[in-house]
Formats: sequence, structure tokens, C-alpha cells
Amino acid sequence: MTLHSHKGLMFILDGLGDRPVPELQDRTPLEAANTPTLDKLLSRGIGGLMDPLAPGVPVDTHTGTALLTGVSLRDAQFLRRGPIEAAGAGVVLQNGDVAIRCNFATVEKDGNGFLIKNRRAGRLREEEVAELAKSLQKVDLGCGITGSIHPATQHRAILHLSGPELSAAITDSDPMSGSPLRIKTVIPHDPGNIRAAKTADVVNRFIRIACAQLPDHPFNRARRKAGRLEANGIICRGAGEMLVLDNLLHYLKLKAALITGDCTIVGLGRLLQHTVYTSPVFTALADTDIDAKIQTGLTALHEHEIVFIHLKGPDICSHDFNPTGKMEFLERFDAALAAVPIDDLVIGVTGDHSSDSIQGEHSGDPVPSLLFSPRGRRDLCREYGETGCCQGALGRISANHFLISMLDMMGSLHNYRSEDTKYYLM
Ligand SMILES: [Zn+2]
Repeated sequence: MTLHSHKGLMFILDGLGDRPVPELQDRTPLEAANTPTLDKLLSRGIGGLMDPLAPGVPVDTHTGTALLTGVSLRDAQFLRRGPIEAAGAGVVLQNGDVAIRCNFATVEKDGNGFLIKNRRAGRLREEEVAELAKSLQKVDLGCGITGSIHPATQHRAILHLSGPELSAAITDSDPMSGSPLRIKTVIPHDPGNIRAAKTADVVNRFIRIACAQLPDHPFNRARRKAGRLEANGIICRGAGEMLVLDNLLHYLKLKAALITGDCTIVGLGRLLQHTVYTSPVFTALADTDIDAKIQTGLTALHEHEIVFIHLKGPDICSHDFNPTGKMEFLERFDAALAAVPIDDLVIGVTGDHSSDSIQGEHSGDPVPSLLFSPRGRRDLCREYGETGCCQGALGRISANHFLISMLDMMGSLHNYRSEDTKYYLM
């Protein structure tokens, strides 16, 4: 018997789902958008509502995207921004290391602590961060532990801790919001966790050393002279340990590619060992070149069995309280999607989570989703949207099961053993 298989193309529209908004006559941006291509795919495929983690639970972009790209529900809860950003910056972590996401900030001494005058020191350029990072390499923090700063994209950086008995179960020094803003003392989540208590101590020590050294850096002397904001302090968040994550796609020996302009998703894709395609024209904003992303995806299909195209635009519009912009982005996406040949491809369209354009934040609402296969089933869904998908044949489906259903349609589950439940059970 010859087994027929299809290649798969999944679109991950960041923050796709939404709630009805008055400015769109009580429709969601997706319902209000004119989307003939998506409606056609849905009419020839099946629709449903996808819960990334669990019904009603809002998730981060990296969690929702990881679940759609082969990480199990069990492992997704261990994902942290530190190691993801580290992977994006090319920082190699050894087993037991801890990575924490950082900003250089403008701070001012205040008693025993520091007030934050500007969280990003006025948004530094990458080469400026690289220059500052050179002065903070292998800083001795005691107990055989060292800390180094590595530049990441734009104003971002990574604090990489190496040494014995570290733990990432610690709080952030970055207060995120509040007035006045003050660098927080890092503490262990559980005071009884000795490794975490030690790690919190060394992070606090690193911050104090950085705040003492940075004002003397030639970069800051020049900034001071020019009356500009100094990058004289460090704030950090999202501590995580090196992760070795099982991945369903590797288990099935499928080659996967991820196309994105978003630096966190670049890091996630590298961490998950998918091929990552990025480009300056993929801006991770609503102005991204959607056609170029789709063309890159179609080319990547020659070398890979499944390709994920991540588009950040819808989520950016929601965070900007801009449902009309979100609707217009989805219309542009729909027009670009018409270039995808559908005769031999399995196509999935979904999102990493829903985003509420009135509140400007992620919500726990399920994401309207569709699966199309040239030989697949059909249902009665006709209009792609929150309402139009809710009675579809996919029903209420998890992100893991959405991927598995797509792989089954592709004919890629021949090697899958039903007793190996880790990819579809918690
Ligand atoms: Zn997102």
C-alpha cells in the first residue's frame, strides 16, 4: 500500500480571537473583516474553537506558540522567557545554568536601593548594549558562581548565571509598573528552597555590582556629559533554567520551520530546534510584509514537512486598543493568503491566544480555528470567525490536539504509538 501524505502549513495569528466591540457594530475584528479566502478554506474544511492551555486561561505568546509547535501541555508550563531570549541571542546554556531577561535602565541611588528613572535607559541600540555588556563578563558572585551579560535584540540583554546549585525559582527585580519605580529585591518563591535563596542572593549581588560599575563606563561618562540618560543599572525578570523539551515533531522525525519577525518566537523556534526564518521585512508589527512571509513559507515547504508562519500584527493592534487596525490587518492577511495553492496542502489557521482590544490584553477566550485538507472532512461552518467557528466539527479543541489533528490529516502519524500519551495528555 502506498501511503499518501501532504505537507502542512499552519498560520499562527498572534492574539487572533477577540470580543465584540462597539466601533465594529458589536462584531469582533475577525467577524467584521472581509475574509473571502478564509471563508472558502473553512467552507471546504472544518472549524472550531481552540484553547491553548485550558478553557478560560490566558497565556503568553511563547506558551501558546510552543503548544502549537510540538511542545506538550506538561512541558509548556516550564517555559520561561530567560532561556527563550537566550536561545534567540545565541547564548548556549549548560545544564544547571540560569538565564534571566534584562534591560539596562537609568537608575538613581535611594537609601539602600535604587529608583528607576527610565526602564530602558531611553531604548539603547544593539551595539550600545554590546559595548556595555563587555564590562560585565564572568563577574565573580561567590560560591563558584559567575554572571555575564549578553546583548540580545534592541535594548534587551540576558544575564547568564553559571555555577553549582542554582535555581530559577526566584522573583523579578523589574517592578514593571508602579510609582515611584524601584528595583525590587529578588527573593525565592519558596523561602525554604535553599538553592533559590542562594540564586536570589547572587542576582541581587550582580545588580549591586553592575550599578556600582556602570556609571564609570566610558559610554555613560559620554552620556552624562551630553546630558542624556545613562544606562547605569540593570533590571531583570523571567528567570529560567536550560530546558530540554520533548517535541512531538522531532519524535515523528518531521522537519519543521518557523517563520517570524518576533524576537521571542525566534528564540523559541531555536530552543525547539525548528528551522527559523526571519528577515528585516518581518517587523513583528502590523506593517510586516505578509506576502514575503508567505513566500518564505512556501519555499521552506520544499525542505520541511510542516511550516509555521507566525504573524504578530493582530496582537499588537489589540495591545494598542485598535480593533479597526486588527480588522484591516486580517483583511490584508486574507488577501495575501489567496497566493497559497491549496490542492495538495493541509492548512491550519489559528492563534496563540485571544486578545481583547478593549482591555488591551490577552484573554482566556478560545481562538477561532480551521483545518483544511484536500481530502479532509467538511462541516457546516461558512464564515471564519468567533461565532462562525463555534459549531464546527473541531469542537472545543486544545492546541496540542489541533496540531495532532493537522498531522493526522497530513498522514504523518504512521510512527505514532497510541501508548505514548505524553504529547496529548498532561
Ligand atoms: Zn501572543
